[in-house]
Amino acid sequence: MINKFKTFCLSILSQMKQLDHGIVIVLSVSLVHFLTLVIFAYLSIPIMIIISLLSIMVCFAMFLPEIGNDYSMIVKIIFTESIFYIFSATICIGWSAGFPLYIFALIPLTYYLSYLSTLRDDNKISTVGFSIVATIAFLSMRLYSYFQEPLYRIANIRFLGYIYMANACITISLILLCLTVFTSTITYSESTLKARNSRLSSLAITDPLTGFYNRRFMVDHLRQAIYRAEQTGIPFSLLLCDIDDFKIINDTYGHNCGDQVILNMSSIMHRIVRDSDYICRWGGEEILILLPGCPASNAAKLAEKIRQEISEHPVSYHGNTVPFSMTFGIQSYEACNDYLELLKKADSKLYQGKQNGKNCIVL
Ligand code: GH3
Ligand code: MG
Ligand code: MG
Repeated sequence: MINKFKTFCLSILSQMKQLDHGIVIVLSVSLVHFLTLVIFAYLSIPIMIIISLLSIMVCFAMFLPEIGNDYSMIVKIIFTESIFYIFSATICIGWSAGFPLYIFALIPLTYYLSYLSTLRDDNKISTVGFSIVATIAFLSMRLYSYFQEPLYRIANIRFLGYIYMANACITISLILLCLTVFTSTITYSESTLKARNSRLSSLAITDPLTGFYNRRFMVDHLRQAIYRAEQTGIPFSLLLCDIDDFKIINDTYGHNCGDQVILNMSSIMHRIVRDSDYICRWGGEEILILLPGCPASNAAKLAEKIRQEISEHPVSYHGNTVPFSMTFGIQSYEACNDYLELLKKADSKLYQGKQNGKNCIVL
């Protein structure tokens, strides 16, 4: 039984989470009007019964698409309607019934709806302006109550005290509801923003087809690698490689098949190269690998492993077996302060490999 009740509450809560927070606030205000309607019906004050009913109708009007889609409009209507309601209730049964307390809930409510309207790119709302008007309304009610007796005298002072306590409890609940949904919305917005930022940062430095780093990122890293090697004396190696006769593959089997070859090559490299190394798509089918702390001999072993794997894994494309190969040029760090110099040397070794019949490694 308890478990069933718990499941029921949890399902209501999860549905509430999916609800638009603006709607939750408008529904809460309608509920407050409904509760006060019951009080005024009990006290038999016809004017307040009519005003309460009108207020409930105003709240439901917020669900009309022309109004409900514009939060700045909702703030203006709910704020005006609430101030009018609080004034009327205070004129009818006096200050001591505690209706002006609702103004304290109205201010954070305005701030929250204003925040929601900024998220939705609605018109801007002057929250400070609303707060000043609310404060003036509160003080005017206080002054009015000093000089004017309420229209209806409640003979039962204890009952008046109960109304005050009910109004105070509802005000505190509204403030708590408002602050809870406000903080949860901010937390949610922040975590979404963080996730989007990290996705954007990763998109800004990676190549979409291969998942390798792009040239911009690699240039920064090459500069850092040279600086670190200068400081620590620990070497690094550059491995520049290029797919052999790629134009022929594209011309024979089509561009999509060429892309498949690049994908095959990238998955082999992702599998073999260490996480601490940096693979970059330097050009179309030209790959540059930065191997920190790695001498040329070890770089040559890695290149041989990649070369072997590639020769054992031709691409299957529409029933065709498309073999491919790569040529590698290896250049290890030499005292220099320009990455372009190192790259030039790696490139000339790659060129040498291409001249020597391709599918080979040049140290
Ligand atoms: P070599 O053995 O001398 O390297 O000859 P090659 O035919 O591979 O010549 P090169 O390296 O100059 O070829 C580059 C070709 O790669 C030209 C370009 O159309 C193609 N290419 C570049 N990027 C892509 C890509 O993303 N997908 C496909 N399918 N082709 C690409
Ligand atoms: Mg090529
Ligand atoms: Mg090329």
